[in-house]
Amino acid sequence: MSYDPLTVNAVSTELPHPPTYWRSTHKVVSRNPLAQDIQCEWLIVGAGYTGLAAACELKRHSARSDVVVVDSHDIGFGCAGRNGGFVLSGTGRYSLPAIAKKWGVEVAVKMHGEWQSAVNALNKHIMQGNIQCDLSSGPYLKIAHNAKQANLLRLAVETNKRDFDIDANFLSPAKLASQLKIEHAYGASIQPGQSLNPLKYVDGLARLAENDGVTIHTRTPAESIERTANGWKIKTPQATINAENILLASNAYSPRQFHPMIDKRQFPVQSSIIVTAPISNSVRETTGLNKAMTMMDTRMMKYYYRTLPDGRLLFGGRGAVAGKNADSPLAKNRLIDAMTASFPSLKHIDIDYFWSGWVSVALDSMPRVVFDEKQRIGYSMGYCGSGVSFATLAGARLVQRALGEKLDTSLPLYRNALPKYPMPAMRRMGLRALYTWAHLFE
Ligand SMILES: Cc1cc2nc3c(=O)[nH]c(=O)nc-3n(C[C@H](O)[C@H](O)[C@H](O)COP(=O)(O)OP(=O)(O)OC[C@H]3O[C@@H](n4cnc5c(N)ncnc54)[C@H](O)[C@@H]3O)c2cc1C
Repeated sequence: MSYDPLTVNAVSTELPHPPTYWRSTHKVVSRNPLAQDIQCEWLIVGAGYTGLAAACELKRHSARSDVVVVDSHDIGFGCAGRNGGFVLSGTGRYSLPAIAKKWGVEVAVKMHGEWQSAVNALNKHIMQGNIQCDLSSGPYLKIAHNAKQANLLRLAVETNKRDFDIDANFLSPAKLASQLKIEHAYGASIQPGQSLNPLKYVDGLARLAENDGVTIHTRTPAESIERTANGWKIKTPQATINAENILLASNAYSPRQFHPMIDKRQFPVQSSIIVTAPISNSVRETTGLNKAMTMMDTRMMKYYYRTLPDGRLLFGGRGAVAGKNADSPLAKNRLIDAMTASFPSLKHIDIDYFWSGWVSVALDSMPRVVFDEKQRIGYSMGYCGSGVSFATLAGARLVQRALGEKLDTSLPLYRNALPKYPMPAMRRMGLRALYTWAHLFE
C-alpha cells in the first residue's frame, strides 16, 4: 500500500513506513496521537524539516508561545525521513547563473546568501541540539553527461567563482578519471559539500523543538480546516483543535483538496532511491568511492548518488509516475541500470534497499514562503527535491513573516504565492510525456 497525494484525501495513519536504509540505522519513537480537544496559539501541520524548524523559531521568539505540531504519521514520514541526505546550497531548480539571467546578478548574489544562510541554519541546529546525524564533509561533484553540458558546467564554474565567490573548479574528463572511475562522463564541477542521515536529523529537530516546549502529536492527521470567528478549527480523528494561526508544512504529502491556499499549486512527483550492499574495499579504492562524497549529473531527469558511512552507494533518480507503481520493479531496475552504466564494477552487487518519496514541484521551479496576515494561515513548499537545508531556513522565514517581519521581497522566494497549475488534471500526462522525451533524447 502506498500513498498518492493526487488521488487520496488523507495520509493514512496505517501506511507502512518506507523500507529505507535510514530506518535500518535509526528508530524514531512515535508520539501520542491527540486524544482530546485543545486550543493553541500556533498549529503546525507536518513534522518534517519545515514544520519542526518553524516550531523552533516560534519558541526562539517567545518561549511562552503555545505551539503544537501534528503529523498524519510519524516524525519524518514525508520527504524528511526518506531523502538522499545531500546538504545542498540551493533549492528549486534554478542554478545561480540561471537566476542571474532571469532576475539579474544582484538578486542572484542575494539568493546565494540566502542559500548559504540555509546551510548555516542546518549546521546551527545540529550543533545546538547536539544532533548525531552523521554529518560529513566531502566533495560535491556535478557530472556532465554530454559534451554540451560539460561546456555549460565549465562556464558555470567561472561565473560561480567570479560573481558568487564559490570555491569551485572544473575537472576535465582526464582529471575526473584520476579521482573517480565513472563511465559516460564528460567532465565535472567540484566544490565542497556535506551530507547527513536525514532521518536522524529530523528526529533531532523534533527533540530540539520538544526541549523548547513544543508539543508533537503523531498519527494525528489534520482532516479538515475550517475558518471560525477567532481563528481555525481543525478536525483530527479523535479530537478538534482550535488554533489562532496555522502553518502548513505538509509539502508534497499534502492530501488532495487539503486547503484552497495550496491546492493545485504544487505537483507531487516521485523520486526513488536504491542502496547497495557494502562495497568491497578493493572496489571502493579502484572506483574512488572511498570517502564521503555527493554527486549529481546534468540530465533534466537527474541521477544523484553518494557514498554512505558504511561503504554503500546510495543512487537515486526519478520514480514511477503514479503512487500505485512506487514499488514496481521497473523503477528499481531503471536505477540499477543507470548505476551500473556509470559504475560497471557494481554490476553484481546486491541491492539491499529500495524506496520512493514525493517531491513537491512548483510550476515555475521556485519554492515560496507565504503567510496571509488577515487569515493567519501560511505555508512553505515547492522545494523541487532540494529542501534538506532550505526547508530548515524556510520554516524560520515562515514564522518571521507570520510575526510581521519584512522578508526581502526582491527574492522570488518571498515575493508572491506559488502559481497555480493551469490544467492540474493534466499534470501526470505531461510528466509521462517529459519522461518519454528524456528517455529518448538524454
Ligand atoms: C527520494 C527523495 C530524495 C530527496 N533527496 C534530497 C536531498 O538529497 N537533498 C535535499 O536537499 N532534498 C532532497 N529531497 C527533498 C527534501 O527531502 C524535501 O524538500 C524536504 O524534506 C521537505 O521537508 P518538509 O518538512 O517541507 O516536508 P516533508 O518532510 O515532506 O514533511 C511533510 C509532513 O507532513 C505530513 N502531513 C501531510 N499531510 C498532513 C495532514 N493532513 N495532517 C498532518 N500531517 C500531514 C506528512 O506525513 C509529512 O511527514 C528529496 C526528496 C525525496 C522524496
